Amino acid sequence: MDNQFVTILEKVRQNAARWPERPMMIEKTGETMRSITWSGLNDFSDRLAYWMDCRLETKAPVVVYGHKDPMMIVCFLACVKSGRAYCPIDVNVPVSRTEAIVNEIKPEIILTTETLEAEISGTVVDREEICRIASSEGGGIPPEKAVGPDDVFYMIFTSGSTGVPKGVQITRDCLDHFIRWAITLGNGIPDEAAYVFLNQAPFSFDLSVMDLFLCLYTGGTLWALPKAVQNDMRQLYRSLGESNANVWVSTPSFADVCLADPSFSSELMPSLTDFLFCGEILTNRTVERLHKRFPNAKVVNTYGPTESTCAVTEVTVTDEINQTVVPLPVGRPKPGTWIRIVDENGRVLPEGEHGEIVIVGDSVSVGYWNNEEKNKRSFGVTTESGAQYRFYRTGDEGYLVDGMLYYGGRMDLQVKLHGYRIELGDVENNFLKIDGIEQAVVIPKYRDGKVSSLAAGLVSSRTVEDEKTEIANIREALKKELPEYMIPKKIRFLSDIPRTNNGKIDRKAVGELL
Ligand code: AMP
Repeated sequence: MDNQFVTILEKVRQNAARWPERPMMIEKTGETMRSITWSGLNDFSDRLAYWMDCRLETKAPVVVYGHKDPMMIVCFLACVKSGRAYCPIDVNVPVSRTEAIVNEIKPEIILTTETLEAEISGTVVDREEICRIASSEGGGIPPEKAVGPDDVFYMIFTSGSTGVPKGVQITRDCLDHFIRWAITLGNGIPDEAAYVFLNQAPFSFDLSVMDLFLCLYTGGTLWALPKAVQNDMRQLYRSLGESNANVWVSTPSFADVCLADPSFSSELMPSLTDFLFCGEILTNRTVERLHKRFPNAKVVNTYGPTESTCAVTEVTVTDEINQTVVPLPVGRPKPGTWIRIVDENGRVLPEGEHGEIVIVGDSVSVGYWNNEEKNKRSFGVTTESGAQYRFYRTGDEGYLVDGMLYYGGRMDLQVKLHGYRIELGDVENNFLKIDGIEQAVVIPKYRDGKVSSLAAGLVSSRTVEDEKTEIANIREALKKELPEYMIPKKIRFLSDIPRTNNGKIDRKAVGELL
């Protein structure tokens, strides 16, 4: 990291000193509003960090559980200021999955801003206690206590094919490299602009890294859209209008939801200058509609997995690009990142040829938490421009044209549904945990080239008397294990799973039965 770049934690301190009274985050559901100022964020997180420094015996990562409460950000910063990584878990993650993550990490404490139902080991510090510590007198924390450049800053868990989520570890340096580039996206985010950033994604989804850290770095205000607001169209449009947001960060699917109503336009959100998208395919149709409704805003497509810190390529999709290039590109790599397209033997392919996208560079994760086997398979070190960099095999197919990356879909059984990353094996393995289910195959269903829903074919070990009731029971059982978005919309019993000649599951044939 060069000397001119101020690192994230130093920047947070500077921002708090310059704009103490500016709101750093606002969360509004109905008539209930919670917010925090910049000085509040800094002081509260300092005191909580001090408390952690005095009380905790280990540097184990800290789980932070909750939703869109501004105290979540206080907790995140307190962890890293005290030299510990944080691991965000959203309230919408089911209890058993939360337990699985907590069991993986074995944190010394869990900071909760909402009630945690899970049965876990480790001390739970609830919101009341967090607020008491954060607002008590004194207790600063010296900057030397904070996580260093090579320490893990946060850990986000993603769907794992075996049914157990994988913890992606992102260091402070990875994050700083990401931010340094992200502030230049679209129109660029001028320091001191006091921009409002829309926060749609839950903090346990790495897309939120884009809005949260752009906001923290540039001294802006984060306008959160809680789940209750996102689920109620009237509240949603009201909230978008009230937000006065300048920068939009979401999956394209969420923009599509908003586009359903004609009121979603620059009249509703006159200050919007940039749409920053990541996480799934951005279609020409979505861009066309956005260009019409928001003629003065830039639409930016970015690409990257959690394993390379949110995003590593970007392209501003102009009218001209949108009218002439189908499918849309996902962009050119940021400085400090190189994209290689490789064949099944790892040989680098020339421009234009299709192969696996490998990301090389300074924001690639140091690997999954406690998972040497998967790390060996997916991560490595290579030389680029005379220096050593980590690389990550994405499992995405793609190709380059004049240095511009195009995304060609997944090479394995991972899918994106409304921006959420799902391993089909994860869903299948959770079906198999249910008593009486012998085989399970989950198939993605497509509309307009994007996954629009999941369907499951199950083989029961006993005679199914009442299919409707059995499926309702299975749904209930699955809800205890998986987030709502991972539960297939269509579930059917099959007498047998079709197989290919060499005995493999014939996914295409299963799909035709569902
Ligand atoms: P996640 O780790 O949840 O961010 O998911 C990463 C995966 O999302 C990538 O490996 C891609 O398969 C997909 N993805 C991310 N960005 C894009 C994009 N702009 N266009 C198409 N797919 C994307």
